[in-house]
Amino acid sequence: MPNKLLEQARLVCQKNGVRFTPVREQVFSLLADATGSVGAYELLTQLQQTDAKAKPPTIYRALEFLIDQGFVHKVESQNAYVLCSHFSEHHKAQLLICDSCGLVEEIENQTIYTALSNAAHKTGFTILKPTIEAHGLCAKCAEENP
Ligand SMILES: [Zn+2]
Ligand SMILES: [Zn+2]
Repeated sequence: MPNKLLEQARLVCQKNGVRFTPVREQVFSLLADATGSVGAYELLTQLQQTDAKAKPPTIYRALEFLIDQGFVHKVESQNAYVLCSHFSEHHKAQLLICDSCGLVEEIENQTIYTALSNAAHKTGFTILKPTIEAHGLCAKCAEENP
């Protein structure tokens, strides 16, 4: 996996004064290696190959930490997790999910967020989870399945 990402994440943790424990680093690395999103149980199975004692709470706590730090997005529609492509900052993301190969592409378009937020505001609605998920085909799959 790209070690640069792990290095970057370590620096962010240092700056924020939080501990990037071995388990947290490992879950981070597993997500960095994945092409698409990964479910918690799949992560657990992979983690257990190096840490046989790992239990579901181990994974959930590590994921919660990674989300809090802004390293990972939860993909609600897949009940899975994906590494943020420009982490270290909390941001309003739009996730483009390929239903064919599972690729999750991330875009960050402030205009989309502002429009949604304004429209919601008019109805008196408060958005707590602003991540938008759109399903479809990535460029590669769209070419292969016209
Ligand atoms: Zn992101
Ligand atoms: Zn695809």
